[in-house]
This record gives sequence, structure tokens and C-alpha cells, in this order.
Amino acid sequence: MIGAGYGLGAAALFGASAPLSKLLLGHAGPLIVSAFLYLGAAAGLFILQRVSSRVSIAKEAALRGRDFALLSAITILGGIAGPILMLYGLTRVSALAGSLALNLEAPFTIIIAVVLFREYLGSRAILAALLIIGGTILLGWAPGSLRADSLGIGSIAAACLCWGIDNNLTQRLSLRDPAAIATIKAAVAGLTTLTIAFAIGMPSPGIGIGLAALAIGSVCYGLSLYLDVLALRMLGAAREAAYFASAPFIGAILSLAIFRMLPGTAEWIAAASMAIGVALLIRENHNHAHVHDELVHDHLHYHDRHHLHAHLAGESPHEPHAHPHRHSALRHAHPHVSDLHHRHPHGG
Ligand SMILES: [Zn+2]
Ligand SMILES: [Zn+2]
Ligand SMILES: [Zn+2]
Ligand SMILES: [Zn+2]
Ligand SMILES: [Zn+2]
Ligand SMILES: [Zn+2]
Repeated sequence: MIGAGYGLGAAALFGASAPLSKLLLGHAGPLIVSAFLYLGAAAGLFILQRVSSRVSIAKEAALRGRDFALLSAITILGGIAGPILMLYGLTRVSALAGSLALNLEAPFTIIIAVVLFREYLGSRAILAALLIIGGTILLGWAPGSLRADSLGIGSIAAACLCWGIDNNLTQRLSLRDPAAIATIKAAVAGLTTLTIAFAIGMPSPGIGIGLAALAIGSVCYGLSLYLDVLALRMLGAAREAAYFASAPFIGAILSLAIFRMLPGTAEWIAAASMAIGVALLIRENHNHAHVHDELVHDHLHYHDRHHLHAHLAGESPHEPHAHPHRHSALRHAHPHVSDLHHRHPHGG
């Protein structure tokens, strides 16, 4: 339930960025706006980290040396290769074809999560994901040209594949400090996009437009990336992707309000399909006896029945707290989703 809130919150903030940044597009090119949104996100997250380390006692597990490989793969795929492939692809296809092709990110993420990372989706969760993704496709469907060539569509599909892998690798890292992970992702994506924008000769934006993009980015992208890591932690990558796929719905509602339009039949059907999918996912109750393998790692925890370890003298007694600890092997039943503590096999 909390995980669903994080996932939907991330989707809502990200979805809201589309109509808001559309207001800026009359005054600056899309690449520049996108770069400033990410840079604003990085700045906002950096401030969030500073402030929260002052006021909060609960400290998340910090990133450490052996996370470097995973973090590099995440930033190269998600922050560099993904945006470059997408931007190249979008130059070769019509806007409609491009936005429809971008819907491949959620199915790619889900397939990788289930096939490679042993996440489990029952038939109900699969139906929920299909309803949400179907709603997104319907929402993006508009009369217009579907002009596309195979290189363009192939590039956009490859970008979505990069982000699908990125989402799954970020899930592996999601027990670490989410603000630190999100800051790095945002900064790399922002610098990549800015470099491309200047390389193809786009002019810098006026100060007002630049500041507006930074502000929108700090909330819509920054907070969204942060909540997204928490959603990945609590739900696994497959369910996070399903919730996140509802983002265009929020964008659509907001743009109807901003640009004063009324929803048509297709929008209503799309909205209903997404709402049913989200409700199915939230009400999912997967509960059976399963084995927790013995595991030693570091993450923020309360001392619940999975955490009965003793503490060393130097460790803060406040809960929640993070320190390396051992989960002893345990077999019991409780409701669960495929987070990092639940990758057990399911029959069939
Ligand atoms: Zn299970
Ligand atoms: Zn653990
Ligand atoms: Zn633990
Ligand atoms: Zn358990
Ligand atoms: Zn502890
Ligand atoms: Zn369990």
C-alpha cells in the first residue's frame, strides 16, 4: 500500500511535468528544457539530501565502493545511452509514432524483471499491467501521422530497453540511500542532454525560462526519481513499472485543465482501464508460506520479526536505522511482493 503510494506519486509528478514543460517549449528548444529539468532535479535532490541529513535521525544505507559497477551501468544505460537513442529515434519518426513507441519501457521492464530477476507476477498482476499499459497506449493514440522508419523505431525501442535494464538494476541498488541514487541519475541525464543540445547548436534559454525549468525539474523530476527508487525497493521493478505507466494519465488530466479541453470517449475509456488496473494491483494479496534464505546486507530497518539481530555498542538505538546485519533463514507465511527479500520460486 505504501509502495503503491510511492509508485503513483512518482508517476503523478513525472506525468505533471509534461504539460508544465509544454508551457516553456514556446520559449526554448525541447532538448534545453529537458536538460534543465534534469539539472533542476539534481539540484533539488542535492538540497533534499543536505536538509534530511540535518533533521532526520534515520540514515539510509550509504552507497559504497562495490556499488560502483552497478551505478556505472545504471548511469550509462539510463542517463546517457537511453536519452541519446531516444532523441535520435524521435528525429526519424512522427511525434505520434514516437510517443507510442516510448510505451515499450514498461513491458520491457516487466519482462526483464520476471525473466532475469525472478520477480513474480500472478495472472491478476499481469492483467493489471496490461490494463494500465493499454490505457496509456489509448491515451497517446490520436489522429495523426504514424510515419516511422525501422531505424527510428529501433532506436526508440533500444532506448526503452536501456531504461528497462536501468529500472531493474536500480531495483538491485534500491536498499541504498534513494536520494543519493536519484541525484546521480538526474545529474548524468542532465549533463548528457545539455551536451547534446549545445553540440547541435541550440541557444541557451533566457534566465526566466531557465529558472522555471529548474524549478519544475526539482519537483517533478527530482521528487519523482526519489519516490521511484522507494517504489522499486518496496514493490520490485515489475510492479513499479506498472504503476509508473499511469504517468501520462496525470499529464492528460493536467493538460485538460491547463489548455481548457474536455476529455473525449477514448480518454474516458483509457482512464477507466488504468483505474481498474491500478485497483487490481493495489488489492493484490499474495500470501503463502515461503523461505527467506540467510542473507547478510545493509539497509534501513525496524526491528520486526525479520530483524531480531543484536546490536554492537556503537550502533544507534533509534529505529529505523541502517547497518550491516544478518537475516537468518526463516520459513513462514505473510503477504509479500517481489522485493529484494522475496525472490522465491512459485509453482507453474
Ligand atoms: Zn510468493
Ligand atoms: Zn534485508
Ligand atoms: Zn534487514
Ligand atoms: Zn518474512
Ligand atoms: Zn538493527
Ligand atoms: Zn517473506
